[in-house]
Parts: sequence; C-alpha cells; structure tokens
Amino acid sequence: MEMERIAESGKTRHPLSSAGGRCGGVGRILLDESIIHTRLDGLAGQICSDYAGLDLTVVTILKGGLMFAADLLRRLDMPVHLDFLSVSSYQGTSSTGDVLFHHTRLPHVNGRHVLLLDDILDSGCSLHAILHTLRQKTHPLSIKTCVLLRKDVPRRHQITADYVGFDIPNEFVVGYGLDYKEHFRNLPYIGVYKEPVRRP
Ligand code: 5GP
Ligand code: MG
Repeated sequence: MEMERIAESGKTRHPLSSAGGRCGGVGRILLDESIIHTRLDGLAGQICSDYAGLDLTVVTILKGGLMFAADLLRRLDMPVHLDFLSVSSYQGTSSTGDVLFHHTRLPHVNGRHVLLLDDILDSGCSLHAILHTLRQKTHPLSIKTCVLLRKDVPRRHQITADYVGFDIPNEFVVGYGLDYKEHFRNLPYIGVYKEPVRRP
C-alpha cells in the first residue's frame, strides 16, 4: 500500500534538511525523490490520456506548486499552455482561511480546458476560492484540479481533487515546493516539519 511505501522511504537525509536553523528542520522523510517521480509518471500518463486531442491550459498555483509543475509538465507528452496564479492562506503552520490573490491578472483560459495544479489539498479554502473566481471571471470549457498531496483532514469546503499524487496523514510537511516561513521549498523530497528545539 502507498502509505507503507511512504513510511519505508524515510532512510536518507539531505544536507538542506536542517537549513531552517531557528525555523526548525525536517523530522522525517515522508516521500523521497524516487517515489515522487514514479508517481508523477503515472499521473502524467493519466492526464495525457484524459486530455488527448483537447486544448489544455495548466494553471499552477505558486509558489508551492512550482516543483510539482516543473516535474509533471516535462512528463506531459502533449501540447499544453502554461499559466500561473499566486495565492496564500497560510501563516506559519496553520491556514488562516482567508485566501489572498497576489496577482490580480487571471489566466486567459476562455475556450480552453483548464487543469489547476496545486501542491496540497488541506482545508480546501484555496482551491475553493480559486475555482469560484475562475468560474466567475473567465470562461474555460472545463476546470479540473490536480494536487500532489491530499491531507487526511475534514475539509471546510466540499472539494476533492480530480488527480491526486499521494494521500498523506494530517501533518505539516515541507520540501519539494512546500515551505515553512519560506524555508525548505528547495528540498528535493517531502518531509514532516519539526519544530526547533527551544533552549532555556
Ligand atoms: P488549503 O487552502 O487547502 O487549506 O491549503 C492550501 C495551501 O496551504 C497549500 O497550497 C499550501 O500552500 C498550504 N499548506 C497546506 N498544508 C500545508 C502543509 O502541510 N505544509 C505546507 N508547507 N503548506 C501547506
Ligand atoms: Mg499553495
């Protein structure tokens, strides 16, 4: 089962994994590079077959979706347009529930099929707000969602995702695009965030 493979993967450490200093570090590795890349092969195959012959625009949610998008897009053996949106709803390790759009320019997706890529589905607030805004203000032929990670939590909004890389437990994770206060995004794997040890 996927979760067993995830637990098995926590073998190696990366020199950057404690680079947060006062911002803590990585407690354990949840998904290593090879597990992520193997899953991306599968996701890409599924997306290519579902969108064969269609005009697809992949809209990546920044900054967290950056690594995921870069690795997934290179596996898509079909013509795609790329676009980006930047939002945030997190402060530290918890969601504020208020989703802020940093770039007001919305992607030009009229008459196109849209696949939204995000790093992680947690409360669902971000995807809910983005879907609502895109549906109201643009005219795509369809919108689907693809997340690398889906947390096992009750969601504030009725959102599933059409494509999911991994289902993970309810822990705060960093790496592979995901941050804690802007640290750890450049780790090549996904790990569970560990608080810094407080010295008296
Ligand atoms: P939601 O709106 O679904 O609660 O959360 C979506 C966003 O919150 C994600 O795109 C991500 O940026 C951030 N987020 C949620 N859970 C985590 C987590 O475990 N780690 C990190 N680094 N960010 C998270
Ligand atoms: Mg995000």
